[in-house]
Amino acid sequence: MKKENKNPDLLIIGAGPVGCVIAERAAKLKQWTSLIIEKRNHIAGNCYDKLNSKGVLVHMYGPHYMRFKKKKIFKYVSNFTKWINGNYIVKSHVDGKLYPIPINLTTLEKFFKIKFKSKKSAINFIIKKRINIKKIRNSEDFILSKLGREIYEKFYKNYTLKQWGIHPKNLDKSIVGRLPIRFDRNPYYVNQKIRVMPKYGYTRLFQNMISDKKISVQLKTDFNKVKNKIKPKHATIYTGPPDLYFNFKYGKLDWRSLNFSFKTHRKKKIQDCVQINYPNEHKYTRKVEIKHVTKQKTKYSTLCFEYPKSKGDPYYPINNKKNKNIFKKYERLIKKAEKKNVFFEGRLAQYKYLNMDEVIERALNLFNRIKKKYSR
Ligand SMILES: Cc1cc2nc3c(=O)[nH]c(=O)nc-3n(C[C@H](O)[C@H](O)[C@H](O)COP(=O)(O)OP(=O)(O)OC[C@H]3O[C@@H](n4cnc5c(N)ncnc54)[C@H](O)[C@@H]3O)c2cc1C
Repeated sequence: MKKENKNPDLLIIGAGPVGCVIAERAAKLKQWTSLIIEKRNHIAGNCYDKLNSKGVLVHMYGPHYMRFKKKKIFKYVSNFTKWINGNYIVKSHVDGKLYPIPINLTTLEKFFKIKFKSKKSAINFIIKKRINIKKIRNSEDFILSKLGREIYEKFYKNYTLKQWGIHPKNLDKSIVGRLPIRFDRNPYYVNQKIRVMPKYGYTRLFQNMISDKKISVQLKTDFNKVKNKIKPKHATIYTGPPDLYFNFKYGKLDWRSLNFSFKTHRKKKIQDCVQINYPNEHKYTRKVEIKHVTKQKTKYSTLCFEYPKSKGDPYYPINNKKNKNIFKKYERLIKKAEKKNVFFEGRLAQYKYLNMDEVIERALNLFNRIKKKYSR
């Protein structure tokens, strides 16, 4: 990785998945040089992982469960890593017991203390619990109308409150709607069939992706401090928050942030599965023991406790009316900026909850658009 290039073909702000994919494609398909500017002291964005002092590989910004909706995206990322199986298991701690999450047939049987003869009998049982709500306006309506009040109160209400600092009544239904509801015994956290972990971690994956000599990375550098000094020949790709880029012209977009606290034990395994959610107790939302999915063979294991907070690094866009309206205004500026070859992509820049496979796909599409522009 080269260190500096003040006159690159592409200037990329952010060394997360989006920045790395664009730089890789540009080097490979157009032999373009890229300079990546990153304010943190590492690459890989929020997917960053590293070995801690006891040699345990830790996901530094929360657990990252890689899954792919599309085979072609999986194939592309497979150029940079070997994989191990990623059968993610998550449970929720309710009234002293552990229940499978997402809610499935086993959760329902254990919670209601009923043995269902079939999927159909479970559905019929839940239909009687459902609350008839004509117009689903928010996250509370959504769960009440799908699973009824008891499940809502024990599994969703307080978790959502803790996670967002906002009552589910005041949150878009898409927030809780992201988690599947199942009437079978599928125990896996995600629906996708391609569930994998990079064998040597995410940081290694993205290092491999940007190993070409045509790619330079400048860490610990805020874009705002260098933006007038670097003039790219072709385009700028910006993966940071849009309000910051436009100097808060239309106001500030709200984000939910997190505090990560790590505790290492001299134990091969500490808890039952990779993630345990605590909806109704503690200040943290979940406890993650990533070793369950990295499958490292070490004497030690590390727990990560996640504490939601309103200030700090931007992690989750808050999808309410106010923020949607503000973002719409920035979107107009983003479209105008494109005409001057400044492109906004990624989870921060698009103010959208996007998984890794989704941002990688979007980055590949964006690069194709840029490439076309320069082959005319
Ligand atoms: C807690 C948490 C858990 C997640 N779990 C999963 C999961 O299980 N599965 C999954 O698929 N996805 C998960 N994700 C989402 C995943 O992290 C994102 O999809 C992915 O990181 C987005 O890539 P990106 O390049 O858009 O942004 P990021 O990874 O956020 O990278 C953007 C980079 O830009 C840098 N930057 C921003 N502004 C500037 C500036 N002005 N100057 C210089 N640098 C700047 C930032 O420091 C950052 O490193 C999770 C995210 C979080 C927060």
